[in-house]
Amino acid sequence: MSSKPNLEQLTDLEKIRHSCAHLLAAAVLELWPDTKITLGPPIEEGFYYDMEFGQPIAENDLPKIEKRMKKILPTWKSFEGKQVSADEAKEFFNGNPYKIEMIEQIAVAGDELTLYTSGNFTDLCRGGHVDEPNKALKHFKLLSVAGAYWRGDENNPMLTRVYGTAFATQAELEHHLEMLEEAKKRDHRKLGKELELFTFSDQVGPGLALWTQKGTVIRDELENWAKETEQAWGYERVATPHIAKHTLFETSGHLPYYKDDMYSPMDIDGEDYYLKGMNCPLHHQLFLAQPHSYRELPLRLAEYGTCYRYEQSGSLFGLMRVRAIAMNDAHIYCTLEQAEEEFLQVLKLHEYYYNTLGLTRDDYYITIGLPDETKRDKYHGHKDMWDQAEKMMRAAIEKSGIAAVDDVGGAAFYGPKIDINIKSSIGREFTISTNQLDLFMPQRFGLQYTDQHGEKQHVAVIHRAPLGSHERFIGFLIEHFAGAFPLWLSPIQISIIAVGGGHHEYCNQLAHEFKQHGIRVAVDTSDETVGKKIRKTAAQKVPYVLVIGDKEMNSDNLAVRVRGQEELLNISQIDFITKTQLAISQKSLGL
Ligand SMILES: [Zn+2]
Ligand SMILES: [Zn+2]
Repeated sequence: MSSKPNLEQLTDLEKIRHSCAHLLAAAVLELWPDTKITLGPPIEEGFYYDMEFGQPIAENDLPKIEKRMKKILPTWKSFEGKQVSADEAKEFFNGNPYKIEMIEQIAVAGDELTLYTSGNFTDLCRGGHVDEPNKALKHFKLLSVAGAYWRGDENNPMLTRVYGTAFATQAELEHHLEMLEEAKKRDHRKLGKELELFTFSDQVGPGLALWTQKGTVIRDELENWAKETEQAWGYERVATPHIAKHTLFETSGHLPYYKDDMYSPMDIDGEDYYLKGMNCPLHHQLFLAQPHSYRELPLRLAEYGTCYRYEQSGSLFGLMRVRAIAMNDAHIYCTLEQAEEEFLQVLKLHEYYYNTLGLTRDDYYITIGLPDETKRDKYHGHKDMWDQAEKMMRAAIEKSGIAAVDDVGGAAFYGPKIDINIKSSIGREFTISTNQLDLFMPQRFGLQYTDQHGEKQHVAVIHRAPLGSHERFIGFLIEHFAGAFPLWLSPIQISIIAVGGGHHEYCNQLAHEFKQHGIRVAVDTSDETVGKKIRKTAAQKVPYVLVIGDKEMNSDNLAVRVRGQEELLNISQIDFITKTQLAISQKSLGL
């Protein structure tokens, strides 16, 4: 059924899901007999079936299809397979050009053609079904409808893809549906808008995020954290421009290897200049500006550098896939002997950051991006250099104890790389950070130092970005915390609500006091009802709320509404300030 050769080797859950895809197609054909069915594979979280409908269908048609699936199911006692000739198969699918195309392809490859039948429905398929569908397919749900090009090629007709999911038990299905609900609530695009963190403008262009005042607070907090941490870990900061001459990217090999990801050049005084897609070649120029002795290595140059990468408009996605990114970038220039230890320190730095945000070893893992040896022309440089880099990275990963899996074909064009993937609290996975141990660019750029014997040697370069880009990392944090940021990252830390006009002045005094102590505070003196003001600030997920009326004005203590807690916190003003300052400085996760 799909181009995957070993459908017979599906897991039990995949068999349930793939069988459910048959059931979906059967129901659709009963409801709309002129539909042309194509492919229905299992996927990570369920299954889909791509079909060409005679008339458009939408999400509100899904309950009707589900109902029909349930009606059909009792008649499906088994899946009966039958081997057929290409002519027989074509005869069966007469009028369905997609199936005919598949049949011809399978026949040309010399593979067996099988038709599988359950009840009144027959599909061309390689197998991979449950034995007793009427018993095994009870726990499914159709989820959404999307467009999908036939065979994923935009030159082909657009089909309708119906997504669903299925599980072995009702409890698992319900748990999954709850997760999906939660994921919808936590969607960073939705929350980003509600919490007023970022926006996009048609006039600025797609994929170019605009950060509001509140969103910028989060960016600045992360960036300050990175600056402090990097300083403590022996980094030095640099700053480089956003554009550079074509020759720089020719030397680096980004032209031509990475050209498709870069924007067309602009002409400046008759020379082509490119928006930078990465910071490294510019940092390398800084390295080259001075001679280096082994005594100054490792040299660690850091910059929150903005890079521009071409993404197709169809693949842009909230903050996760954008066209301009501010990267938590740094390049470490060291000797070959230092490289493994430096790489290990980089992994430890990741761990420090992620721990602080409440992520444990179970929440992230490494993929080691290796070259696809069958496509050697996609990569630059000598194989022994690649092997050496891979060996050192693997040794460092092993010492770090962080779980890792291989990803063949996932290398950069100039060397193996590692990605750090984080699972958010709702189980969504994000590739946050990419790191490389690079022995190639030092040769291209002539990045050298003088060793103990006065000889010139090439450095090794480590590329690292533990906090990824602001865009993707904050997108992740929004979903991870469901918008309820820890105190230190909250754009507003304390919200003060005035009950009436007589309380404004006191509220402003209080706010002034908090601000003096470095706490971010907002005062709501609007004419809305107190209830409405409280709901508004709750929706903004502000950690602490103070409602100030006569009683509060005349009390020695503050009555603090703490986010997520029923009980008011009764505390003196000075103690509250101390407590808040401490939680902020410790980047504490609790309130
Ligand atoms: Zn099948
Ligand atoms: Zn780099």
